[in-house]
Amino acid sequence: MNQNYLFPPPQPWSIPTASGQAFPVHRVYCVGRNYAAHAIEMGHNPDAEPPFFFQKNPENLNSSGHFPYPRQSVDVHHEVELLVALAKGGVDVRVDDALDLVWGYAPALDMTCRDIQARAKEMGRPWMSAKAFESSAPCGLLSAADQTGHPQSGAITLDVNGERRQAGDLNQQIWKVPEVISFLSRQFNLAPGDVILTGTPAGVGPVVKGDELTARIEGVGAFSVLVD
Ligand code: MN
Repeated sequence: MNQNYLFPPPQPWSIPTASGQAFPVHRVYCVGRNYAAHAIEMGHNPDAEPPFFFQKNPENLNSSGHFPYPRQSVDVHHEVELLVALAKGGVDVRVDDALDLVWGYAPALDMTCRDIQARAKEMGRPWMSAKAFESSAPCGLLSAADQTGHPQSGAITLDVNGERRQAGDLNQQIWKVPEVISFLSRQFNLAPGDVILTGTPAGVGPVVKGDELTARIEGVGAFSVLVD
Protein backbone atom coordinates (compact mmCIF):
# COMPACT_ATOMS: atom_id res chain seq x y z
CA MET A 1 0.00 0.00 0.00
CA ASN A 2 1.20 3.49 -0.78
CA GLN A 3 1.98 5.09 2.60
CA ASN A 4 2.42 8.54 1.11
CA TYR A 5 -0.85 9.79 2.61
CA LEU A 6 -2.04 13.30 1.78
CA PHE A 7 -2.88 13.82 5.45
CA PRO A 8 -2.67 11.62 8.55
CA PRO A 9 -5.32 8.87 8.24
CA PRO A 10 -7.72 8.54 11.17
CA GLN A 11 -6.99 5.89 13.78
CA PRO A 12 -9.43 2.95 13.76
CA TRP A 13 -12.51 3.58 15.90
CA SER A 14 -12.80 1.17 18.80
CA ILE A 15 -15.15 0.12 21.57
CA PRO A 16 -13.96 -0.97 25.03
CA THR A 17 -14.11 -4.56 26.19
CA ALA A 18 -14.86 -5.75 29.71
CA SER A 19 -11.24 -6.95 29.98
CA GLY A 20 -9.85 -3.47 29.25
CA GLN A 21 -8.87 -4.04 25.64
CA ALA A 22 -10.08 -2.09 22.62
CA PHE A 23 -12.10 -3.78 19.86
CA PRO A 24 -11.27 -2.01 16.57
CA VAL A 25 -14.41 -1.45 14.50
CA HIS A 26 -14.57 -2.04 10.76
CA ARG A 27 -18.23 -1.74 9.66
CA VAL A 28 -21.54 -1.47 11.53
CA TYR A 29 -24.48 -3.44 10.13
CA CYS A 30 -27.99 -3.20 11.57
CA VAL A 31 -30.95 -5.56 11.12
CA GLY A 32 -34.41 -4.05 10.60
CA ARG A 33 -37.58 -5.44 12.23
CA ASN A 34 -36.08 -8.56 13.78
CA TYR A 35 -38.66 -9.02 16.56
CA ALA A 36 -42.24 -9.69 15.46
CA ALA A 37 -43.84 -7.47 18.13
CA HIS A 38 -41.72 -4.49 17.04
CA ALA A 39 -42.47 -5.10 13.35
CA ILE A 40 -46.18 -5.06 14.22
CA GLU A 41 -45.91 -1.86 16.30
CA MET A 42 -44.26 -0.20 13.27
CA GLY A 43 -47.14 -1.31 11.00
CA HIS A 44 -45.49 -4.25 9.22
CA ASN A 45 -46.25 -7.94 8.83
CA PRO A 46 -43.31 -9.83 10.35
CA ASP A 47 -44.09 -13.00 8.37
CA ALA A 48 -43.77 -11.32 5.02
CA GLU A 49 -40.12 -10.41 4.65
CA PRO A 50 -36.57 -11.77 4.71
CA PRO A 51 -34.08 -9.84 6.88
CA PHE A 52 -33.00 -6.45 5.61
CA PHE A 53 -30.06 -4.33 6.62
CA PHE A 54 -28.86 -0.77 6.98
CA GLN A 55 -25.60 0.65 8.26
CA LYS A 56 -24.27 3.04 10.81
CA ASN A 57 -20.74 4.41 10.88
CA PRO A 58 -18.04 3.02 13.18
CA GLU A 59 -17.71 6.46 14.81
CA ASN A 60 -21.42 6.37 15.70
CA LEU A 61 -20.62 3.73 18.35
CA ASN A 62 -20.60 5.71 21.55
CA SER A 63 -19.37 4.39 24.88
CA SER A 64 -19.15 7.81 26.55
CA GLY A 65 -22.24 7.38 28.76
CA HIS A 66 -23.75 10.46 27.10
CA PHE A 67 -26.13 10.71 24.14
CA PRO A 68 -26.18 14.20 22.58
CA TYR A 69 -29.75 14.81 21.33
CA PRO A 70 -29.37 15.57 17.59
CA ARG A 71 -30.52 19.09 16.64
CA GLN A 72 -32.02 17.91 13.32
CA SER A 73 -34.79 15.86 14.99
CA VAL A 74 -37.60 16.39 17.50
CA ASP A 75 -38.59 12.70 17.80
CA VAL A 76 -35.59 10.54 18.71
CA HIS A 77 -36.49 7.00 19.81
CA HIS A 78 -34.60 4.37 21.82
CA GLU A 79 -34.15 0.86 20.39
CA VAL A 80 -32.32 -1.56 22.70
CA GLU A 81 -30.37 -4.20 20.76
CA LEU A 82 -27.87 -7.03 21.14
CA LEU A 83 -24.56 -6.02 19.54
CA VAL A 84 -22.51 -8.83 17.99
CA ALA A 85 -18.80 -8.20 17.35
CA LEU A 86 -16.88 -10.28 14.80
CA ALA A 87 -13.18 -11.15 15.15
CA LYS A 88 -13.11 -13.13 11.90
CA GLY A 89 -14.46 -12.40 8.44
CA GLY A 90 -15.98 -14.54 5.74
CA VAL A 91 -18.04 -14.77 2.56
CA ASP A 92 -20.93 -17.20 2.06
CA VAL A 93 -20.64 -18.36 5.67
CA ARG A 94 -22.81 -21.36 6.51
CA VAL A 95 -25.27 -20.92 9.38
CA ASP A 96 -23.57 -23.79 11.22
CA ASP A 97 -20.18 -22.05 11.00
CA ALA A 98 -21.35 -18.48 11.68
CA LEU A 99 -20.72 -18.33 15.43
CA ASP A 100 -17.02 -19.12 14.79
CA LEU A 101 -16.72 -15.51 13.55
CA VAL A 102 -18.06 -13.97 16.77
CA TRP A 103 -15.69 -12.42 19.32
CA GLY A 104 -18.32 -11.23 21.76
CA TYR A 105 -21.48 -9.35 22.66
CA ALA A 106 -22.59 -6.05 24.19
CA PRO A 107 -25.83 -4.25 24.97
CA ALA A 108 -26.38 -1.31 22.62
CA LEU A 109 -28.91 1.28 21.48
CA ASP A 110 -29.93 1.96 17.87
CA MET A 111 -31.04 5.55 18.44
CA THR A 112 -33.39 6.58 15.64
CA CYS A 113 -34.74 9.93 14.43
CA ARG A 114 -38.29 8.62 13.93
CA ASP A 115 -39.52 11.85 12.31
CA ILE A 116 -36.75 11.80 9.71
CA GLN A 117 -37.23 8.06 9.16
CA ALA A 118 -41.00 8.51 8.62
CA ARG A 119 -40.35 11.17 5.95
CA ALA A 120 -37.72 8.94 4.30
CA LYS A 121 -40.20 6.03 4.19
CA GLU A 122 -42.91 8.25 2.66
CA MET A 123 -40.57 9.53 -0.03
CA GLY A 124 -38.81 6.22 -0.70
CA ARG A 125 -35.49 7.65 0.44
CA PRO A 126 -32.66 6.00 2.39
CA TRP A 127 -32.70 5.85 6.18
CA MET A 128 -29.16 7.17 6.58
CA SER A 129 -30.07 10.53 8.08
CA ALA A 130 -32.45 8.86 10.55
CA LYS A 131 -30.01 6.18 11.66
CA ALA A 132 -26.34 7.01 11.00
CA PHE A 133 -26.14 10.33 12.83
CA GLU A 134 -23.39 11.31 15.28
CA SER A 135 -23.22 9.23 18.50
CA SER A 136 -26.32 7.31 17.38
CA ALA A 137 -25.21 3.91 18.72
CA PRO A 138 -24.51 4.11 22.47
CA CYS A 139 -23.08 0.82 23.71
CA GLY A 140 -21.87 -0.91 26.83
CA LEU A 141 -18.70 -2.91 27.36
CA LEU A 142 -18.07 -5.75 24.95
CA SER A 143 -17.85 -9.15 26.66
CA ALA A 144 -15.98 -12.07 25.12
CA ALA A 145 -18.05 -15.04 23.97
CA ASP A 146 -15.70 -17.32 25.91
CA GLN A 147 -17.09 -15.59 29.02
CA THR A 148 -20.74 -15.17 28.01
CA GLY A 149 -21.28 -18.09 25.68
CA HIS A 150 -23.46 -17.38 22.64
CA PRO A 151 -26.73 -16.12 24.16
CA GLN A 152 -29.82 -17.42 22.35
CA SER A 153 -32.31 -16.49 25.03
CA GLY A 154 -32.50 -14.06 27.93
CA ALA A 155 -34.26 -10.83 28.82
CA ILE A 156 -33.46 -7.71 26.77
CA THR A 157 -34.83 -4.55 28.40
CA LEU A 158 -34.67 -0.77 28.28
CA ASP A 159 -35.59 1.48 31.20
CA VAL A 160 -36.09 5.24 30.98
CA ASN A 161 -35.56 6.99 34.32
CA GLY A 162 -36.09 3.64 36.07
CA GLU A 163 -39.34 2.84 34.24
CA ARG A 164 -39.45 -0.21 31.97
CA ARG A 165 -40.19 0.75 28.35
CA GLN A 166 -38.91 -2.16 26.30
CA ALA A 167 -38.97 -5.81 27.34
CA GLY A 168 -38.32 -8.80 25.16
CA ASP A 169 -36.29 -11.96 25.00
CA LEU A 170 -33.44 -12.79 22.64
CA ASN A 171 -35.35 -15.95 21.72
CA GLN A 172 -37.95 -13.69 20.02
CA GLN A 173 -35.50 -12.70 17.28
CA ILE A 174 -37.00 -13.69 13.92
CA TRP A 175 -33.52 -14.15 12.41
CA LYS A 176 -31.09 -15.63 14.92
CA VAL A 177 -27.49 -14.41 15.14
CA PRO A 178 -26.02 -17.26 13.02
CA GLU A 179 -28.67 -16.67 10.33
CA VAL A 180 -28.03 -12.91 10.34
CA ILE A 181 -24.27 -13.48 9.91
CA SER A 182 -24.88 -15.98 7.12
CA PHE A 183 -27.32 -13.65 5.30
CA LEU A 184 -24.93 -10.69 5.59
CA SER A 185 -22.01 -12.76 4.31
CA ARG A 186 -23.87 -13.49 1.09
CA GLN A 187 -24.08 -9.75 0.31
CA PHE A 188 -20.92 -8.35 1.92
CA ASN A 189 -17.36 -9.44 2.61
CA LEU A 190 -17.49 -9.74 6.38
CA ALA A 191 -14.25 -8.74 8.08
CA PRO A 192 -12.67 -8.75 11.54
CA GLY A 193 -14.02 -5.71 13.40
CA ASP A 194 -17.48 -5.85 11.86
CA VAL A 195 -20.29 -5.18 14.32
CA ILE A 196 -23.96 -6.13 13.96
CA LEU A 197 -26.92 -4.57 15.78
CA THR A 198 -29.50 -7.33 15.73
CA GLY A 199 -32.83 -5.50 16.03
CA THR A 200 -35.08 -4.29 18.82
CA PRO A 201 -38.02 -5.74 20.74
CA ALA A 202 -41.33 -3.87 21.09
CA GLY A 203 -41.80 -0.72 23.13
CA VAL A 204 -39.72 1.84 21.26
CA GLY A 205 -40.49 5.43 22.13
CA PRO A 206 -39.18 8.98 22.38
CA VAL A 207 -36.47 10.29 24.69
CA VAL A 208 -35.96 13.84 25.94
CA LYS A 209 -32.95 15.71 27.30
CA GLY A 210 -32.29 14.71 30.89
CA ASP A 211 -33.51 11.13 30.48
CA GLU A 212 -31.34 8.32 31.78
CA LEU A 213 -31.57 5.20 29.61
CA THR A 214 -30.52 1.82 31.01
CA ALA A 215 -30.11 -1.12 28.64
CA ARG A 216 -29.77 -4.65 30.00
CA ILE A 217 -29.27 -7.98 28.32
CA GLU A 218 -29.31 -11.04 30.53
CA GLY A 219 -25.98 -12.85 30.44
CA VAL A 220 -24.32 -10.05 28.44
CA GLY A 221 -24.30 -6.85 30.49
CA ALA A 222 -25.89 -3.49 31.13
CA PHE A 223 -25.09 0.18 30.70
CA SER A 224 -26.66 3.58 31.22
CA VAL A 225 -26.56 6.68 29.08
CA LEU A 226 -27.68 10.24 29.82
CA VAL A 227 -29.53 12.17 27.09
CA ASP A 228 -28.02 15.66 26.95
MN1 MN B 1 -32.96 -1.02 15.29
